[in-house]
Amino acid sequence: MAVTGPIARPGILDIEAYVPGESKAPGGIKPAKLSSNETPLGPSPKAIAAFQASAAELDRYPDGQATLLRNAIARRYGLDASRIICGSGSDELLGLLARGYLGPGDEAIYTEHGFLVYRIAILTNGATPVVAPERDLKTDVDAILARVTARTRVVFVANPNNPTGTYIPIEDVRRLRVGLRDDILLVLDAAYAEYVSRNDYEAGLELVATTANTVMTRTFSKIHGLAALRIGWVYCPENIADVLNRIRGPFNLSAPAIASGAAAIEDLDHMELAKRHNDEWLPWVGAELEKLGLAVTPSVANFVLFHFKDGGRKTAAEADTYLKSQGVILRKVAAYGFPNALRMTIGSENDNKRAIAALAQYLKGVA
Ligand code: PMP
Repeated sequence: MAVTGPIARPGILDIEAYVPGESKAPGGIKPAKLSSNETPLGPSPKAIAAFQASAAELDRYPDGQATLLRNAIARRYGLDASRIICGSGSDELLGLLARGYLGPGDEAIYTEHGFLVYRIAILTNGATPVVAPERDLKTDVDAILARVTARTRVVFVANPNNPTGTYIPIEDVRRLRVGLRDDILLVLDAAYAEYVSRNDYEAGLELVATTANTVMTRTFSKIHGLAALRIGWVYCPENIADVLNRIRGPFNLSAPAIASGAAAIEDLDHMELAKRHNDEWLPWVGAELEKLGLAVTPSVANFVLFHFKDGGRKTAAEADTYLKSQGVILRKVAAYGFPNALRMTIGSENDNKRAIAALAQYLKGVA
């Protein structure tokens, strides 16, 4: 008799495992790692000190409510701490939201070039992913609304989106909310909110506060420079916070994460430095890429998507290989529907210049 072994639930084997940005360059060159949207400034020195201090109590379980961190976030943004749930990265929270609200027979919508963790979270729970086309590489509210059916339970929108770096104004987000049935959960993923400098942008806190069916996720992995610690949070209506508290792991944040996160969010000066650095270098990188003849998608985040000419001799895949040989690591984005584009994180001055110089070499045909 053939040994079959356990069989995964329907949907699981349709998942393509998430491939993180690469981090290694060949030949021991110290790489310019511009593949995962980390900040070149690193974390606040106060967060590092809190992390080190937490080493004294590694034998103790952490506070299962992450009280210190939730209170620090609540103070920072003027929120109700009981409606903040922290997670091991916002990735965990996206998964928990899907687990809480999706099952077989349900549909969840995300956008054409939307962050791929949504698809994984949807399929993990046996639900059906529905992809809404974008317009000019931006979330298209009407396209989402046109795909709502009686089975739709959740809509995921990254604003700004990764990997496009584009955003939609809060007015459009409000129009989306108004157009969705009340029983549909709208998940606003604002991982890059701190970087956005646009008058018509809001991450969505007010929508969460004033509706019963909207949540907003945030992360400490980007502007706070704590990607290694895995810290995210979500602001929810009370009943959704209650659902997440029932299904999350009882100690889903480590003590070093709680301590460092709380210190990081209080260090406004450090955050401001990271924002200013990005404000200076995002336009520089975009302009340099354009000078090289590459098409740049306008970004409001800490990374930029750029495109090679379709049918041209120079391709994203070949450029990526050459850049890697020079110790410059960007992000391939074919899995996001961009086979001929690359995404570059805004790095240190040195790394930005290294990346642009290596790309120039490749495009000149010197490579
Ligand atoms: N949302 C978006 C749009 C992202 O780009 C990322 C990071 N790649 C995340 C969520 C997850 O971040 P983390 O789990 O580190 O909080």
